[in-house]
Amino acid sequence: MKILVVGGAGYIGSHCVRQIQASGHEPVILDNFSFGHRDAIPEGVSLYEGDIGDIDFVQPILENEAIDIVMHFAALINVGESTTDPLKYYDNNVAKTIRLLQAMRAAKVEKIIFSSSCTIFGDAAEMPLHEELPLQSFSSYGQTKQDIEVLLGYCAKAYGLSYACFRYFNASGAAPDGSIGEDHEPETHLIPLAIQAARGQRKKLIVFGTDYPTPDGTCLRDYVHVNDISRAHIATFDKLDQPGTELHYNLGTGTPASVLEIIQVVQEVTGLEVPHEFGPRRDGDVPAAYAYPAKAIAELSWKIEFSDIKSIVETAWKWHKNHPNGFEK
Ligand code: UDP
Repeated sequence: MKILVVGGAGYIGSHCVRQIQASGHEPVILDNFSFGHRDAIPEGVSLYEGDIGDIDFVQPILENEAIDIVMHFAALINVGESTTDPLKYYDNNVAKTIRLLQAMRAAKVEKIIFSSSCTIFGDAAEMPLHEELPLQSFSSYGQTKQDIEVLLGYCAKAYGLSYACFRYFNASGAAPDGSIGEDHEPETHLIPLAIQAARGQRKKLIVFGTDYPTPDGTCLRDYVHVNDISRAHIATFDKLDQPGTELHYNLGTGTPASVLEIIQVVQEVTGLEVPHEFGPRRDGDVPAAYAYPAKAIAELSWKIEFSDIKSIVETAWKWHKNHPNGFEK
């Protein structure tokens, strides 16, 4: 099958592109390079540079390339920025996704896989997070993901659109061969920040909050390897044939780790000290978020290859060691 990977030069998108190739399908990349990296794109993959909000640009790509499925990774992801500039987030994550869906409808492409987030469950009363829990985002970023999930549901019923929404927990790690990995500007994620602090590229890591109702007082998260996430996407290709199919999966390992545990693992894997200091809570952080991944495991035969945090950090370390300054371009 031919898959249009929207945001295919980004972190999760670029790992997915490789998994699509490995599974014998053909990726085509659409990226505007606002955050993506040219070096993350494998040689020989068709690349279109432009904006998903431009129907006149996207529709001919869908038609001329005879795309079977769209995978949509292109989104702004910074919760803090989404609070200070919600219009930017709604424009990028909601309005442009509507344009993409309109282009798909015009081109008669009827299947989409959407990158959602566990943040749509907000500060849930229940843990671990399973698919039946109510959606209750409390940030503008989370709400953009929730709104698109809801819209996809309406499109399935109205037009027969088939879709899968994946609610990622903390996407982490890198390609095991160290060729591609996480490179955000600015970096806000814990594992890369801890590695950079260990290497002396940052003075120190600030631990955001030590008074949470968790065993060591720091937040619990579910770190899931980016290749495990990618393989779940490919496992849905054959499940979207029936028009109007609606799939939702929570993608995490189910095993939480605290911020202090991550620091410990980074120290173990790198053999370096992670200089860190305790600071106040970060706005918008929930005490704990971890998945109940049984549905993806049962329905997609999803196998979590990187089931322990050490194996995830090892891949991240390999990437950072080989590319201390991230991608060159
Ligand atoms: N975190 C931290 N210091 C940092 C960055 C993150 O203590 O400099 C914590 C953050 O509060 C959260 C966890 O690490 O509990 C994971 O944060 P990240 O931003 O990587 O992912 P999120 O869970 O927000 O999607």
